[in-house]
Amino acid sequence: MLCRSADLIAEAHASGSGIAAFNVITLEHVQAVAEAARRTGRPAIVQISQNAVRHHGGDVMPLATATTAAAGGSDARLALHLDHVEDVALLHRTAECGASSVMFDASRLPDEENIAATREAVRWAHGQGLFVEAELGEIGGKGSAHTPGARTDPGDAARFVAETGVDALAVAVGSSHAMVSRTAALDLGLIARLRDEVPVPLVLHGSSGVPHETLRAALAHGMTKINIGTLLNVSFTRAVRATLAESPDLVDPRRYLAPARDAMTDAVADCLTALGTPGAR
Ligand SMILES: [Zn+2]
Repeated sequence: MLCRSADLIAEAHASGSGIAAFNVITLEHVQAVAEAARRTGRPAIVQISQNAVRHHGGDVMPLATATTAAAGGSDARLALHLDHVEDVALLHRTAECGASSVMFDASRLPDEENIAATREAVRWAHGQGLFVEAELGEIGGKGSAHTPGARTDPGDAARFVAETGVDALAVAVGSSHAMVSRTAALDLGLIARLRDEVPVPLVLHGSSGVPHETLRAALAHGMTKINIGTLLNVSFTRAVRATLAESPDLVDPRRYLAPARDAMTDAVADCLTALGTPGAR
């Protein structure tokens, strides 16, 4: 069933169990997340990034409609979120495409402009009943939540949340985007300090590069939303490559997309199971 992100995130924040959010690109990605959520009995957020929208010709509707239809036809609890939205025109399509939350990303802007743009995005989104995630830019010259080696200062984070009114905050604690090896270490002490000083749920981006035990420890220290994208693409592409290598004359895409979808389903189910198992405090 299609749920509201705010409800899944609030439930995860209250229980400390965390909520995983998976970036989707193709219909097979969507089906993999829905099937893994059904199989494990765990809720999940399906998220479509602005880059994925661009891949589909700049229109969010085809993939968003496929996602809400897949969620509506599933017993699993699924929500739709738009990820890394920089374009205000796309932000303004959040509600009509069936998403109940959006990450508005003005982190490329200088500090004060990021705060002003994010505050305006929040004002609009709250008027639509939407949940908003955002991230700090280069406050204090420490880099954004996506700069390798960057760390979010808890005081800066608390100020950003107070001045913008965001509902969740992406923080820099050691992970980075598009890692294909699972070797990232997280600063668990910093996560605990952020949890103590920031009044909204914390979001970890770039979680594909983080081992499951470390993700469980991050949840135990106060992280709530875990964004996972690259892991699906590693599974998808590995399966396609293996199938085509085995059958060089194959032309029917169903013959390589089916194993790719199965591989993504297994990877997503592993994540959902791992995150549902309590970590060390
Ligand atoms: Zn991100």
